[in-house]
Amino acid sequence: MTDLQNQFTQLIQQLPKSVPFVAPEALERQTGVSVRLRLGANESSFGPSPKALAAMEAHLAEQAWYGDPENYDLRQALADRHQVPFESIAVGCGIDDLLGLVVRLFVEPGDVIVTSAGAYPTFNYHVTGHGGRLHFVPYTADFKNDLPALAQAAREVMAKLVYLANPDNPTGSYYEGSEVAAFLAQLPESCLVILDEAYIEFAPSDSALPLSLDDPRVIRMRTFSKAYGMAGARIGYLIAAPDVVAAMDKVRLHFGVARLAQVGALAALGDGEFLSYVIAETDRGRREYAELAARLGYRALPSRTNFVAIDVGSEAMARQLVDRLFAQGVFIRMPGVAPLSRCIRVTVGTPAQRDEFARVFPEVVEEILQRGGV
Ligand SMILES: *Cc1c(COP(=O)(O)O)cnc(C)c1O
Repeated sequence: MTDLQNQFTQLIQQLPKSVPFVAPEALERQTGVSVRLRLGANESSFGPSPKALAAMEAHLAEQAWYGDPENYDLRQALADRHQVPFESIAVGCGIDDLLGLVVRLFVEPGDVIVTSAGAYPTFNYHVTGHGGRLHFVPYTADFKNDLPALAQAAREVMAKLVYLANPDNPTGSYYEGSEVAAFLAQLPESCLVILDEAYIEFAPSDSALPLSLDDPRVIRMRTFSKAYGMAGARIGYLIAAPDVVAAMDKVRLHFGVARLAQVGALAALGDGEFLSYVIAETDRGRREYAELAARLGYRALPSRTNFVAIDVGSEAMARQLVDRLFAQGVFIRMPGVAPLSRCIRVTVGTPAQRDEFARVFPEVVEEILQRGGV
């Protein structure tokens, strides 16, 4: 038999095995535990808009058909909503898909890419998968992306591309538009920027970076997975210079976005009332989590997302909490890289889910401390 190992590309032979996230389903299979509180992946606990569900149900039989490869209706609605040209919008199977496409467009083997150490790992996965080299910049001591240090690193290593999630995952931190603009001004002229705005709907819109920003280096990514509650439908979009959008047509999967996802996203976009409800309920949930953490002597990091990171003092404590909670059917996550790994990250649940978390979490903390801590 042929040894396939030698047939893979050089790059694939060299890459370590890597999975950005182990899914709760995989953990259930490994442990035999079934998850009853799914608060680990920042999926929306409030589901899709009833209007999106109704639209998808009405079009269910159209599963027989491919989606519109140009995503025309949705792009038109997004262009109207954001007051940007139709040609500057590309739709893909979520931000994860779009990250891979942008990296494919711009990153050649050996190019250096700058990101924060412990930032969104799926981006890193795409960079290494295309032969790029990652240069990591530590978060600040108060768990924020270090904008001056990211810009300085970009200049020093002549970065091709910089990645910034704003609001950030896994910390929940946020920079206002003026701060992001100052950061952009510090970057080298030739350096592209991915602004991953997966959680932007949860941040105040009046102080945000304007979308009409006339800077061809900036690629903004957004999704229907978080505030719109449609993670399973796999649909997101980017706003970028029309040249970027046109170039994506050379490499993207034209029939990748499911027809039902297109229909659902369009209806979701039209349901502002539901979105406002999700945002308000998420804000309430964040405050509840912060109070819960404080009652236990922990600090919740300020969050502009649908999750809260709680500093529990040590990585060992965070690990114990994640494991002990999972044993009780409560799925949360912790960041993988120090110093963020001193935190646990909990998605805002429905009121009932939050009550249950507020019941179980102190019990598990108590149990760990009784057994002598960590
Ligand atoms: C959840 C998340 C994504 C993934 O978005 P999809 O549109 O579901 O692919 C991307 N970036 C960040 C920062 C996220 O937290």
